[in-house]
Amino acid sequence: MDFGIVTIFPEIFDSFLSHGIIRRAIADRIITVRAVNVREFAKDRHRTTDDRPYGGGAGMVMKPEPLAGAIAEARRLIPAGRTILLSPQGRPFTQSVAAELATLEGLIFICGRYEGVDERIAACADEAISIGDYVLTGGEPAAMILIDAVTRLLPGALGGEDSAEKDSFSDHLLEYAQYTRPPVFAGEDVPEVLLSGNHALVEDWRLQSSLARTLANRPDLLKDKRLTRREKQILKQWCDYIEGLVSGPDSDCAAASSGEK
Ligand code: SAM
Repeated sequence: MDFGIVTIFPEIFDSFLSHGIIRRAIADRIITVRAVNVREFAKDRHRTTDDRPYGGGAGMVMKPEPLAGAIAEARRLIPAGRTILLSPQGRPFTQSVAAELATLEGLIFICGRYEGVDERIAACADEAISIGDYVLTGGEPAAMILIDAVTRLLPGALGGEDSAEKDSFSDHLLEYAQYTRPPVFAGEDVPEVLLSGNHALVEDWRLQSSLARTLANRPDLLKDKRLTRREKQILKQWCDYIEGLVSGPDSDCAAASSGEK
């Protein structure tokens, strides 16, 4: 996968690209990352990349000409790349969008700054993507997030082939709780089943842990999930248990009928 980044701050990416799995993916030629500096395509003496907005108002807007030049250069370097404008107004980025992008040959990210990019540049991108409902000062952290999430889905990037398969969101579930040595920490034990060496029991415990966490933290994910027989069985057991709890007498009514206040 070839990544291109159109930015006025290419140095921001230096540390990100030289650590961990991303560094290794570059070394193993699983990905290439090339940043194109918008400033190099500004024609004036001061290499200006922004200007005041037409119609007035606060802040500055990224000028179209230097951006157009930088995007053309990125497209020359990565001809098969999909051009993505990073914008809080774009399609929400999720794990399934990451999986979709991971099937492409190349991605070119346009990083805005200031109040954003001139609308005529926004219109020439293939699409806009947002990393969440909040506003950053620039698109660079968003580009890093997309590069990171997409790279770890590429074959060979994580080392163990199935490491990404069981991550949160992969099957409409959050991942199960994880533990490592020591077996007792701050008075808390690792669940015994994880030390049992019984693979089937460990798998079942992990499934229950995943379901419980998803139900507690992100019940919306389960809406689109096709449940297995075992998953239904586990949820039914919990429902029966909760049903038993809620069908008992209310504590306040019981207190009133026994004459207590
Ligand atoms: N004025 C713009 C608006 O209200 O829609 C926000 C501009 S923001 C200060 C500057 C740049 O940061 C944007 O052009 C975009 O590239 C990037 N950015 C900010 N928030 C983002 C988000 N949630 N997702 C992706 N990129 C974002």
